[in-house]
Amino acid sequence: MTEAVGVLAVRSRRVVTPDGERAAVVRIHAGRIVGLTEHDDFPADGVDLGELALLPGLVDTHVHVNEPGRTEWEGFETATRAALAGGVTTIVDMPLNSLPPTVTADALRIKRLAAAGRCHVDVGFWGGAVPGHLADLPDLHAAGVFGFKAFLIDSGVPEFPPLDPAGLVAALRAVPGALFVLHAEDPAAVAAAPPSDRYADFVASRPPAAETRAVAVALQAARATGAKVHILHLSAADALPLITAARADGVAVTVETCPHYLALSAEAVPDGGTQFKCCPPIRDEANRDALWAALADGDIDCVVSDHSPCVPALKRFDTGDFAAAWGGIASVQLGLPVVWTAARRRGHTLADVARWMAASPARVAGLPTKGRIAPGADADLIAVDPDAEFTVDPALLWHRHPVTPYAGQRLTGVVRAAWLGGRPVTPHGPPTGRLLTRNGAAG
Ligand code: ZN
Repeated sequence: MTEAVGVLAVRSRRVVTPDGERAAVVRIHAGRIVGLTEHDDFPADGVDLGELALLPGLVDTHVHVNEPGRTEWEGFETATRAALAGGVTTIVDMPLNSLPPTVTADALRIKRLAAAGRCHVDVGFWGGAVPGHLADLPDLHAAGVFGFKAFLIDSGVPEFPPLDPAGLVAALRAVPGALFVLHAEDPAAVAAAPPSDRYADFVASRPPAAETRAVAVALQAARATGAKVHILHLSAADALPLITAARADGVAVTVETCPHYLALSAEAVPDGGTQFKCCPPIRDEANRDALWAALADGDIDCVVSDHSPCVPALKRFDTGDFAAAWGGIASVQLGLPVVWTAARRRGHTLADVARWMAASPARVAGLPTKGRIAPGADADLIAVDPDAEFTVDPALLWHRHPVTPYAGQRLTGVVRAAWLGGRPVTPHGPPTGRLLTRNGAAG
C-alpha cells in the first residue's frame, strides 16, 4: 500500500445528505467537505462509488472503552478498530469501567495518554459526575469533556457510585451550561434479580416503572436548574410521554435508544443467554414497536450502541445465571447493519438511519463538524452496500472478545470503505484518529 493521499472527490448515485439522497460528487479539501456538485461533474482522479451509498461516518456517543484499568475487557485499539469496521468514525468514550474513572481533570489526562496513538477513529470523552467529586466538574469541563455522565442507580462498579436526586440537582448546578447524560433507572423500583437462567426472571426485576420513575427524577432536576439532560439507552417506551411533555414545556431534554432494544426482544432471549443481558433490559415486542414509532415521530433523537464489553468469564456462560452475569452488549461494529436491517423492513430510509446514528448524536454531544455530508463538515464518510447481506460470525468482530447476541443472524448492509478527515482508512491500517475536545480542538 502506498501512503494514503487526501481524496479530492467522491461520487455516488446515493449520497445521503441532511436533505435526503441525491446523486452527487462530494468535494473535499484539507479534511473537510467543501461542497457537493453535480454527478456528471467528476474529475478523472476521483473515487467513483457507483451504486454504493455514501453516508456520513456514524457518531457513536455511547462506547465503554474501559482503558486504562480494564483493558482486558476492551481497549482503544480494539474498540476503535471495531468502530471503523462498522462505519463509526467518531466515538465518545464513557467515563466508567476504566480505572481511574474519568471524574477529575487528572483522570482525563491519564485517559488521553492511554488513547493517544491507538485510535482508528476520532475519540472524544465524557466526564463522570459522582458523589464527592462535584467540585472537580468545572475543571474537568474546561479540560474538554463533552459533558457528564451520572447514574441514578448502582453502576455495576464500586468506583462510580450513583447520585441521589439531591446530588443530581447539585451536579447540574455545578457546571452551568454543561450537558448531563443520565443512566435513568430508579433503585427503589428495581428488585434484586433471583439467581436464574430464565430471562423472564431478570427482566421482571427491572420493570418499565424503574425507567419512568428515574426519568421523572431527571426531568424534575432539569426543570429546577435549567440544565440540559440526555436520557441514555432508553428501553421502556412508557417513559416517552414524560419526555415529550417536558420538551413541550421547554425542558432541554434529548433521548437515545440502542440497536438491541430495536432489533431484539425478550421473547427471543434463550435460557442462559446472558449475551443478551444489559441494563435497562431488552423488553417485549410491543415495547419494541413503540420505540420504533417514537423514532419515526422524532420523539427519540439518537440510536447509539452502548458498547459495553467485558471478559467472557463475567458473562457466566458456565451457569447462564442472569443475576450474576455482567450487563452489557458489545455492538459498536454491528449497529449499522442491525438497525438498517430492521429499519428498512419498517419502511425507513438510509437518510433516517444517518439522522439517528450520525447527525443527531453529533448534535446532542456538541460535535458541530461531525455526522453530516454538508459543506464545512469533516470528511468522515462511509461507502455502504445497503443490499448486501451477511451472517454474523463472531470471529470476524474486531472488538477484544467475540461475544455477541447477534451471532448467526442474517443482516443487511455492509460497509465497503471509509474515509476519516478525507483519508481512506481501514481497520488494518495505522491508527489515524484524533482525540477530540468539546471546543472542537484536536488534542
Ligand atoms: Zn453504557
